[in-house]
Amino acid sequence: MTTTLIQFAYLIAAVLFILGLRNLSSPKTATLGNQMAAVGMLIAIVATLLVSEVVDYPIVLAGVAVGSLIGAVAASRIEMTAMPQMVALLNGFGGAASVLVASAEVFSRTTQGNEPTGIVPGAIVASVLIGGLTLTGSLVAFAKLQEVMTGSPIQYPGQQYLNGFLALGALVLCVLLTMSPLDPVLLWSLIGISLLLGVLLVIPIGGADMPVVIALLNSYSGLAACATGFVLDNSALVISGSLVGASGLILTKIMCDAMNRSLANVLFGAFGAQDAVAASGEAVDQGTVTAYTPMDAAVIFSNARSVIIVPGYGMAVAQAQHAVRELTDQLVENGIEVNFAIHPVAGRMPGHMNVLLAEADVPYERLVEMDEINPQFPETDVALVLGANDVVNPAAREDETSPIYGMPVLEVDRAEHVFVIKRSMNPGFAGIQNPLFFKDNTMMIFGDAKKVIIELTDAVKNY
Ligand code: NDP
Repeated sequence: MTTTLIQFAYLIAAVLFILGLRNLSSPKTATLGNQMAAVGMLIAIVATLLVSEVVDYPIVLAGVAVGSLIGAVAASRIEMTAMPQMVALLNGFGGAASVLVASAEVFSRTTQGNEPTGIVPGAIVASVLIGGLTLTGSLVAFAKLQEVMTGSPIQYPGQQYLNGFLALGALVLCVLLTMSPLDPVLLWSLIGISLLLGVLLVIPIGGADMPVVIALLNSYSGLAACATGFVLDNSALVISGSLVGASGLILTKIMCDAMNRSLANVLFGAFGAQDAVAASGEAVDQGTVTAYTPMDAAVIFSNARSVIIVPGYGMAVAQAQHAVRELTDQLVENGIEVNFAIHPVAGRMPGHMNVLLAEADVPYERLVEMDEINPQFPETDVALVLGANDVVNPAAREDETSPIYGMPVLEVDRAEHVFVIKRSMNPGFAGIQNPLFFKDNTMMIFGDAKKVIIELTDAVKNY
């Protein structure tokens, strides 16, 4: 009876996870989706605690209390701009949990003399291998994004050979451990090699490729959890792990497509290595930059009929979303058509700009995806680039030697006038120069995004 109830609870949890994911696909329903998935997780946890194999409730509840407290404090303190690091860390914890659970199962079965059969040995091996490399790979990704270590790719001679050799070693160990799943030496060796592989596979990746790696590691953490579900014969874990695995893979593909890169190129292409060298060398003379003030800009805005605002990471840093909402209201009041161009990898996490603009109550109808808005730039009077850089870099279209050549970008330079608001001539995340700043129709307004937008709003209002 209890088993049937538990399975029923798992079924409800699975349905809630799926509906939650569905709702996450639109900013309008994302909060509801998040809540549904959280309720699903709560049901799954409570149902799991009712399983008779749980022997020590005080320890489990103490773990839940400590984990919830750390999670709640971390989530409430984390800056939106540090979200990718947080996700990386959480992926790592997921991987660690899979390794620990699968290893505990091996040790417990060894004590009972209960040799696993059927799919379980393979599932143990998958949990350890994928979980182990997800753990250390995610920790390296965290360290890179948190700037605890260099964010540039780390390369050395024979790197691919060493990684290939270790991957082969891991494969051999997987086969051996599947045949003798209770052999402790094989288990420890696989744990060791997978932890090492996680580090070595992620250190050569850098620059703008890190978000893709994090999405991929997210998918791995789901696959590891799914394998652990088979180890424990727990259907909720199998389902939730598969959902994370599949959605992480889809997100990885979307991000690769948005950057026009193949996954293999992201993983083995060491993006940013050449640019770090170029950036440290002499700057290429690209022409003259024209600096304007918000007052100057107000003159052009007063004659404009259409404005496209292009937000980027700088808007997030400056927390300028509320100010930009006020500017939008003012421009609309002046009879100007205003839209926002949203690049899929603007900011530092997928949907970053949507979240910030939704927080400031910018109507969803004004947010237009890249493919839809690009044809509109040639008919637009003003493109206002707010703390964006890589996502508006025309080198992606024009310069075959550029590392981002072929990446789809917002074609702001085709607008009649382009204003770029940023603090300096520093490059963006990818560390490369942006020829947009030197174009004849581009006017730079140097300063903090929020401060400049407030001044611009005042200037437009009083013009
Ligand atoms: P970029 O990182 O290319 O550029 C941001 C610009 O904002 C910088 O040039 C910076 O210039 C400016 N800036 C920073 N702070 C401020 C401020 N307070 N006021 C005004 N300007 C400011 O951002 P994009 O959004 O254009 O591109 C995103 C990049 O991040 C891409 O390369 C993408 O691949 C990568 N990425 C994306 C993730 C995602 O999932 N969306 C995750 C992680 C990385 P200055 O210092 O001169 O002010």
